[in-house]
Amino acid sequence: MATAEKQQFGSDPVACRDSEHYQQEYIEGFVDKWDQLIDWESRAESEGDFFIDVLRRRGARKVLDIATGTGFHSTRLIEAGFEVVSCDGSPEMLSKAFENGRLRDHILRTVQVDWRWLNRDIHEHFDAIICLGNSFTHLFSENDRRKALAEFYATLKHDGLLIIDQRNYDAMLDHGYSSKHTYYYCGDNISVYPEYIDEGLARFRYNFPDESVYYLNMFPLRKEYLRRLLREVGFQKVTTYGDFQQTYRDTEPDFFIHLAEKS
Ligand code: SAM
Repeated sequence: MATAEKQQFGSDPVACRDSEHYQQEYIEGFVDKWDQLIDWESRAESEGDFFIDVLRRRGARKVLDIATGTGFHSTRLIEAGFEVVSCDGSPEMLSKAFENGRLRDHILRTVQVDWRWLNRDIHEHFDAIICLGNSFTHLFSENDRRKALAEFYATLKHDGLLIIDQRNYDAMLDHGYSSKHTYYYCGDNISVYPEYIDEGLARFRYNFPDESVYYLNMFPLRKEYLRRLLREVGFQKVTTYGDFQQTYRDTEPDFFIHLAEKS
């Protein structure tokens, strides 16, 4: 069920810097539009088999999609033969993911859970966890980030892999925003840009063709900071790709993808 008709950010939207707030941002109207924004076909084409190849190279079989959203990666991985459990803290997102799965003849195994308390509901161990689509930047405090990463770590098998991505906030903070919109948000006639950014908040505005407007308030994670946190919670090796390439110039990629190996 939708929690509200309109997104609510309070009287001063740039003061809204709260790890719980994602629950109120993914309201039904926005969730319904999410697939226009990400455009499954173009996204599948642009990312190719990057994640599938990484997972296969590691011999992964059981994968936990920790930020399922509308189910794009869960569905792709099921179709590629992986055993997938699909989590998200937003019931609206999970119900859309389930519906999208049904349309493709899949029954997604969905679990509604906040990352910070993942182990309360997820008791299995996985070969890999994916946290994709700039999701981790919904967490605003370092405690929340450490807690969530520790829960991910504990949910992985001893040789498990965490794949976590993020927008290139360093470039936005240091050089201003520019995006090729090639890899992630591929929908036509939709504009996405940070309406406001400082070291503690990136407030993104999403304009849709029917003139509806939605926002997401995110924490602008710096790349080296996240790499450090990953190592500090125990991941032994962290490899970072820029827009799916291992070689990149720091200001160029839209997205970074970190592969964090437990051993
Ligand atoms: N991975 C999907 C994609 O790429 O299309 C969805 C990305 S969407 C930007 C971020 C997702 O993370 C949302 O579905 C949101 O509900 C979820 N999320 C954010 N914070 C969370 C938390 N603390 N616990 C669980 N899920 C969370």
